[in-house]
Amino acid sequence: MNKHYQDLIHHFPDLTIKKNYSLAPLTTLKIGGPADIFVQTTSQPEFIKLLKFLSEVNFFPERSDREQSEPEGSEHRKKRFTSAKPIIILGNGSNVLISDSGIRGIVIKNTSNSIKILSKQKISTNFSKTDTQRQENEPDKYLDFTKIDYDESDSPQIKVQISSGTPLPYAINYLLNKGITGLQWFAYIPGTIGGAIVHNAHGGSYHISDYLINVKVFNINTGKTTIYPKSLLPWQYETSYFLNHPEMVILSANFSLFLGDVNRATQSRNAWIVQKSKVQPVNSAGSVFANPQLSICQRIWGEQKSTGWIIDHELNLKGYKIGGAQISPLHANFIVNTGKATSKDYLSLIKHIQDQVKSKFGFELKPEIKLLGNF
Ligand SMILES: Cc1cc2nc3c(=O)[nH]c(=O)nc-3n(C[C@H](O)[C@H](O)[C@H](O)COP(=O)(O)OP(=O)(O)OC[C@H]3O[C@@H](n4cnc5c(N)ncnc54)[C@H](O)[C@@H]3O)c2cc1C
Repeated sequence: MNKHYQDLIHHFPDLTIKKNYSLAPLTTLKIGGPADIFVQTTSQPEFIKLLKFLSEVNFFPERSDREQSEPEGSEHRKKRFTSAKPIIILGNGSNVLISDSGIRGIVIKNTSNSIKILSKQKISTNFSKTDTQRQENEPDKYLDFTKIDYDESDSPQIKVQISSGTPLPYAINYLLNKGITGLQWFAYIPGTIGGAIVHNAHGGSYHISDYLINVKVFNINTGKTTIYPKSLLPWQYETSYFLNHPEMVILSANFSLFLGDVNRATQSRNAWIVQKSKVQPVNSAGSVFANPQLSICQRIWGEQKSTGWIIDHELNLKGYKIGGAQISPLHANFIVNTGKATSKDYLSLIKHIQDQVKSKFGFELKPEIKLLGNF
């Protein structure tokens, strides 16, 4: 890695490039060891230039020697192009648990922040909602989206391009100020546009993919940039194609938003923030588990249940602690760092909940957060 560090310093004298850099402060959980190499980019051109450079670096020289004698099309040769390069993109670190031992390789913090309003004329896209299993069983106690929800899908639409490093709260506010609505449902999500696309972030019953036209992606393995129309990619509740394809780096996305009722959208954003701030602790990584499938819930409870409800009412684990990690007393599907939690504490608590659910009800709870590094 030292050679890669020297090369980066040489080629990118203006970028922040650090060795053995602590990642915990760059996450909402404040957990995690160092990256071998850390680079921060602050503009889209810088981000792209860096990615292009890294796509040409051979991180596996010992393998390429061997490949010299490997026939074209052999498994080893293929591997050179399909192995994940040790490069990880970090947005705002609000949906990740980073290992105490850190990340071996290069971590790029993407803070390229730009929003372009592309067309004022009416565009027609197929605004379509993703099926959701996100549901609160006790809306009075937690979140009541029905109080703020409304349909604006017949408002004139407008095309907006947002770079992946743009913070979602900034994009929402900036666009409302320009008279553009649609993203208000995603208020209080402390992530970037890139992270929100990777996790197909949801706000109430809406998903970020509902508003996408296409996504511009740089493939670190091939060095190619491709624009993927939304319809070519599979979108699901809290899941996207990108989640398991770290070589696909999101550069920007085009959104179809609305010239809707700005006052109403602003009120919804504000009301949503008020509701969420009461039950969603910020020293967390958001909801830890996805809700179980409807068919599982119907078999056991006769209706859809949220994971928070199960952990609270069936396991009675609210407030339960392992080391510095605690099941939030505010919301049982949030695990918080009470101050000195390690990734080991956090993962042990995840395992504890999973084991209890498995032994009591016989199904597996699926984590929603992304684990980065070796566990
Ligand atoms: C208090 C709180 C409330 C939350 N509420 C919600 C909520 O209501 N709804 C919801 O859906 N989520 C919620 N979250 C979770 C989280 O904020 C979102 O999933 C967010 O979109 C993650 O974005 P990020 O930039 O922080 O991603 P990160 O955590 O930085 O990264 C997540 C993953 O995406 C990858 N990644 C990031 N950027 C890129 C890129 N440009 N290209 C390719 N890969 C990339 C990373 O490598 C990592 O694997 C909440 C979190 C907290 C702490």
